[in-house]
Amino acid sequence: MDFRLGPDSEEFRAEVRAFLDEHITPEMTERVYRTGVSHDEAFTRALAERGWLAPGWPVELGGQGRDPLEMQVLADELRVRDAPTYGIGTTLMVATVLRAVGTPAQQAEILPRALSGQIVIVLGFSEPEAGSDLASAATRAVPDGDGWVINGQKMFTTNAQIGDYVFLLARTNTEVPRHRGLTMFLVPMDQEGVEVQPVFTLSGERTNITFYNDVRVSDAWRIGEVDGGWQTLTVSLAAEHGSAFGSAIERLLAAAEDWAAGTLDDGGRPMLEDLSLRETLGRTMADLEVSRLLQRRVAWMAEAGLPLTTEGPMSKLFSSEALQDRAQDLAELMGPDALRSYLDPTAPGHGEVEHTLRHSLGTTIYAGTSEIHRNMIAQRGLGLPRTR
Ligand SMILES: Cc1cc2nc3c(=O)[nH]c(=O)nc-3n(C[C@H](O)[C@H](O)[C@H](O)COP(=O)(O)OP(=O)(O)OC[C@H]3O[C@@H](n4cnc5c(N)ncnc54)[C@H](O)[C@@H]3O)c2cc1C
Repeated sequence: MDFRLGPDSEEFRAEVRAFLDEHITPEMTERVYRTGVSHDEAFTRALAERGWLAPGWPVELGGQGRDPLEMQVLADELRVRDAPTYGIGTTLMVATVLRAVGTPAQQAEILPRALSGQIVIVLGFSEPEAGSDLASAATRAVPDGDGWVINGQKMFTTNAQIGDYVFLLARTNTEVPRHRGLTMFLVPMDQEGVEVQPVFTLSGERTNITFYNDVRVSDAWRIGEVDGGWQTLTVSLAAEHGSAFGSAIERLLAAAEDWAAGTLDDGGRPMLEDLSLRETLGRTMADLEVSRLLQRRVAWMAEAGLPLTTEGPMSKLFSSEALQDRAQDLAELMGPDALRSYLDPTAPGHGEVEHTLRHSLGTTIYAGTSEIHRNMIAQRGLGLPRTR
């Protein structure tokens, strides 16, 4: 079996690297670090001008018709450079849903602006009492004239402070089983009654609590059928469950190697000769390879038109847990040097180990927790019964 991506993809990789060399500036990296906001307007527009926001979409819809392997290359390179793409990711996820189930008017209004990097769409799924179990969502949307009135609260609405629209999950029916009483809306963030309150995570990432107080939304902004929100949501969650963290492992490994190459142990010997460290570096390398292969399998199956079941969850589960475990192992071996942050100019690997140590904790939570991914694999891969 040949696991390489092929000469066309590798040629594309060189093109992407040259673009990133030009557009990922130290100023942008510092701004993203200090604000915790993984979005940059100028960078997003530059990507859009190259046609690289949705390169896999057909040309007539604003894409470039690239195959999943080339898209894998682009995603790899963006992640290895830690490019600010969170806002792009959520916007494209919703654009994909609109492409599948949106009305022609919704598609005409949103898709060109999403694909040219003019708008940011954020995800309003989770609530204080409904995270893994989204079917418990309590935010209410009640019919009113030719529209809806929305009341409720969402948790972790990342990028809401810069978002143009929130893709909102709301309860529209309390008289039917939980999954059947939900509807999706695209709510303009400047609508009266929408309030955004900042929340900063352990990694410094900015997310938000959002409140909806008598927010009026025209029925034109309902996405999909009334009470058909669960089906609409499934389209976007499938994309989320395919996220992977191999590139973050690659950055971690490079930082640890960088540190080991320039550090002596207490006896004056190079740290690179330390057996425990070599063992952990070797294990990190193996985890990186497995993460990459699991991710490539997802791309290869998409390319071959094969149905994906457990492959996305396996890739996300393995790579996020490996990232977390290896960051902790390496930090123990590096001692205080591992805790020197990006803001210390002499920190090894620009503070990558310190940042990964904090950032990796969230990777096993968002886009579905590890427990939820294990459940999915057990159910879809092993045919075990649902837990509930
Ligand atoms: C940095 C960050 C950014 C985020 N961004 C967004 C965003 O933009 N939009 C958005 O809508 N959400 C976002 N989220 C929310 C994220 O999707 C949820 O945190 C996640 O789905 C888990 O939900 P919860 O936090 O409510 O935990 P809970 O669902 O309450 O889970 C608590 C614990 O119980 C476990 N558990 C729950 N159910 C089961 C089960 N059936 N079987 C076994 N174990 C179970 C979980 O694995 C977890 O360990 C973000 C979260 C973080 C941390």
